[in-house]
Amino acid sequence: MHFSTLSKYYEKLEATSKRLELIDILSKLFKQAKSDEIGKICYLIQGRVAPFFEPIEMGMAENIVAVAIARAFNKEKEHVIKLYRKLGNMGIAAEELSRNHESRIRNQELTISQVFNELLKIAKFSGEGTVEKKVSALSGLLKKLDPISAKHVVNIPLGTLRLGIGDATVLDSLSLSKHGDKTLRPVLEDAYNKTSDLGFVAETFFKKGINGIKNIKLTLGKPIRPALAERLPSADEAIKRLGNEFAAEPKFDGFRVQIHLSRAHLRGVPQAQHHLGGGGEEVVQLFSRNLENTTHAFPDIVSGAKKEIKAKSAILEGEAIAYNPQTQEFLPFQETTKRRRKYKIEEMAKKLPLVLFAFDLLYLNGKDITQKPYRQRRKLLESIVSRNGGVIKIAQEKILKSTKEITEFFNEAISEGLEGLMLKKLDSPYIAGGRGFHWIKFKRTQAGQLTDSVDCVLLGVYSGKGKRTEFGVGGLLVGVYDEKKDEFVSISRIGTGLTDEEFRKVNEISKQLRVVHKPARVNSDITPSYWVEPKVVLEIQADEITRSPIHTAGRDREGLGYALRFPRLVKFREADKRAEDATTVEEIKKLYKQQFNHYKK
Ligand code: ATP
Repeated sequence: MHFSTLSKYYEKLEATSKRLELIDILSKLFKQAKSDEIGKICYLIQGRVAPFFEPIEMGMAENIVAVAIARAFNKEKEHVIKLYRKLGNMGIAAEELSRNHESRIRNQELTISQVFNELLKIAKFSGEGTVEKKVSALSGLLKKLDPISAKHVVNIPLGTLRLGIGDATVLDSLSLSKHGDKTLRPVLEDAYNKTSDLGFVAETFFKKGINGIKNIKLTLGKPIRPALAERLPSADEAIKRLGNEFAAEPKFDGFRVQIHLSRAHLRGVPQAQHHLGGGGEEVVQLFSRNLENTTHAFPDIVSGAKKEIKAKSAILEGEAIAYNPQTQEFLPFQETTKRRRKYKIEEMAKKLPLVLFAFDLLYLNGKDITQKPYRQRRKLLESIVSRNGGVIKIAQEKILKSTKEITEFFNEAISEGLEGLMLKKLDSPYIAGGRGFHWIKFKRTQAGQLTDSVDCVLLGVYSGKGKRTEFGVGGLLVGVYDEKKDEFVSISRIGTGLTDEEFRKVNEISKQLRVVHKPARVNSDITPSYWVEPKVVLEIQADEITRSPIHTAGRDREGLGYALRFPRLVKFREADKRAEDATTVEEIKKLYKQQFNHYKK
């Protein structure tokens, strides 16, 4: 397929404000493409040249892209910047310049693969003269493209392609395109949960059909979408779900890490990671809760894993938390989170060492063990983690039987500065990518508050008035995720409770994510001063969830949705949650019901 054909689809996708239309357009696009283009298309429509977990970022700043555009169309950089300011989008500036440029080489049309490979090449340039190499390759590419293609290609290295296409939308479209309806989405989702690689799943589906999809296996180097826990209002209710005997572990308040360790073979490991294994025999890769490759950020966990995990290959999960080895104290989340940084990594690793409390094992010596019961996985985990290791420790576990025992262990965990407990069903498999009652979380709560905070997605922003003019933002419109419909629905307006610094940060974020019309997957009756691409997750604490005719979250036939009462910002969660990882409407409904039980106590 020619890239110019894909660009026409980009135009259609950009114009729609309805999710069903997105699916319809995408399924037509997939139908028209060749099977070995499907994977590339899946990455390109999300503005990428690799799956999310691969640390391949185009990462070009505006003024560098402006130089490339200027060079492509024989203009001064200042001219490009001026045009960009006037039009508000660098891609549109490139489109206009391309339209007016006579010497465009357009005798031969580029295919999707050619443009993809060129973009990948740009992303991979490194070392001396990187900027010049990137500029020259991008300007060369722009010269060969038609104006509409130039517009969209420019937005890829800038990270400003705002088509708002989520993974679930792509999966629905793939099923519709090849199967005529959306019924294959669960099977595709299952394969996606195992690999987190949308392009790979899509291409396998188009080349090998549904049997190929069912054969997709866990792969070292591709993160598994994490199993998630449910909430319940009381220990009694938990016991009903978990059976007579269940496991309990402390709930550590740090960040989740998935370790991929391989000593035997290197297949499936990106070339860029080989250096981590010292000669390529031993490779450790780390992935975050939201599937990003965070290997470079935690050298202490990487070397700890190499020394302290005894296996040819393994995928294990744990919670990393800052820990004071002298006093054997866990440090609060505010300390742990200082380790999430791009610079001065080694220095910070010394100052604030992490320990990783391993709590599950998913893959061992070449075998997927996710289907084995939790009890067995835990035994295998204990057999490969060294007892006296300094970095990788096994999360403490108790087998409990009663409410009384839960309460005792819970109080013990709290007194040690931990967040609460995780209760786990002993015979349950590891359920990738799913929230279920196989894991139940019990957290500390504060009186007068909901039993848990709500992770909301920033949907829009109200311009600031009075003192707030200075921050550019006076209030926020936030929503939660409707998993069934793959939409973001409004749940609250937040106008107070943010510090000046937080208002400024929201302003920065919203400037980057601002879009011209309501995104297709946002469903809201309220219109803010401007919309943003749903991307950033904010943790919100509220006093209560109420029914409300204003918001679209969980709206029923009578027109009543849910709203947050007295919402306030706890923290930004852009580092470890994607928009689709926000609290779901189903969870809001449960929290709403649970608050009544809570009051009764
Ligand atoms: P979620 O990850 O469920 O969307 P969240 O990120 O808001 O929710 P919490 O609700 O506080 O976090 O708790 C779930 C998280 O707790 C897990 O994702 C994991 O990172 C962490 N965790 C801490 N200790 C454990 C443990 N022993 N077993 C499993 N997870 C644990």
